[in-house]
Amino acid sequence: MAKRKPAISLENFIPTHLMNYDACTRCGECVKYCPTYKGRNYDRAIEPRDKIIRWRDWVTKSYGWRAKLLGPAAIPEKEIEKYTEDLYNCTICGMCGTVCPSGLDTIEMWESNRANLVKRGNGPYGKQSLFPKLIGEKHNPYLKEQQDRLAWVTPDIKIAEKSDIAYFAGCTAGYNQHVICVGTARILNRLNIPFMLLVPRLAALHNVEALKTRGAKRVIYSCAGCFRTAMIDWPRAYGKELPFESIHISQFLAEQLEAGKIKWEKSFEKTITFHDPCHLGRHIGIFEEPRKILKSMPGVKLVEMERNRNEQRCCGAGGGVKAGLPDLALNVAKDRMNDALETGAEVLISGCPFCRRNLLDGRDELKLDMKVDDIVVLAAHLMGLSTEINTPPPGAPKEIISDLFRTQSIPGKLVESQREALKAEKE
Ligand code: SF4
Ligand code: SF4
Repeated sequence: MAKRKPAISLENFIPTHLMNYDACTRCGECVKYCPTYKGRNYDRAIEPRDKIIRWRDWVTKSYGWRAKLLGPAAIPEKEIEKYTEDLYNCTICGMCGTVCPSGLDTIEMWESNRANLVKRGNGPYGKQSLFPKLIGEKHNPYLKEQQDRLAWVTPDIKIAEKSDIAYFAGCTAGYNQHVICVGTARILNRLNIPFMLLVPRLAALHNVEALKTRGAKRVIYSCAGCFRTAMIDWPRAYGKELPFESIHISQFLAEQLEAGKIKWEKSFEKTITFHDPCHLGRHIGIFEEPRKILKSMPGVKLVEMERNRNEQRCCGAGGGVKAGLPDLALNVAKDRMNDALETGAEVLISGCPFCRRNLLDGRDELKLDMKVDDIVVLAAHLMGLSTEINTPPPGAPKEIISDLFRTQSIPGKLVESQREALKAEKE
């Protein structure tokens, strides 16, 4: 009788990916920290350990010595479909890998496994399956037109034809969170730093070649996700070191601050907590620069959430979760906003349009009287710059206006009662 074929393929895994799956000791440390496991009401199938063990069992069933002798064992298709769903219930925040005593590189494991299941015809999952088509047709996941990418550029903003410095605005801020792009551009103008704009395209190689052709030596990103892509995915696609340096706006501002170029014109008498975007912090290792900027702002008192820096809890938006599984994204955002609430902070600042959007949603869902905004927006305001755009396009989302300086709508005493309720719940 002919032996059956293995149900799963290992084609796109490199040996270290497979060694990672093998190295899991089932200790369960990752389970304690996984934001989506909690966000899915502690569903066992979502925990990182379970996903590793299931996949490892299938590899053994398909390629182990028994499989070599007797043929690969069958794996019901329904189980693979369920596994795909569980794998996409993950923000790829990397927290599981950070706390793993065996040092598993879970970000690589989840990403290569998603690619594997896409090749097999199972992934992407749910609404995320629309992304390849949307990105292929429109070069962005928001169904927007290419020419609308620059809708945020107001007449006062000066853009250079040629400069060593380029600003890569990305899709999320460029289309939906103009306040971040406007803030970045006006800060660069104020600092007399000429910059070019690049209209992002589908392929990594296209972006790299376009920046190279235009002579960019330094590229600034205000989106932590774009920055991470440029730091990790672009060099892989390009096959060698990129011909320019990539830098997140928080690094750039910290550098300018150190050089004495930033002058704060206003003070901000508020207690602030900082949410580290996964793509900026855990994925790339930038933790101190945003804090350096916040600490230098007149009047600001910076307090830390219990989970900060490397151990930060994800905002819930990454890994396609915000677009594909919005209920899960919201649950995780609420947990993160509760982390912020516990600190007594009046304002939560982050450094990524995805974090900003999702944490605003979590804040609104919990009806918290806490401001949520991006570090660029706050920096621009304290430098005496406006982040308003003159003519918001039709149907522009509400966050186009700075959240920080919007009139408060919820009575302040609500926060105290929420903090007390949270404390009681913990006790
Ligand atoms: S990457 Fe984050 S969300 Fe995904 S399994 Fe690990 S801890 Fe959970
Ligand atoms: S922390 Fe690491 S070794 Fe422990 S169960 Fe999770 S993945 Fe496995």
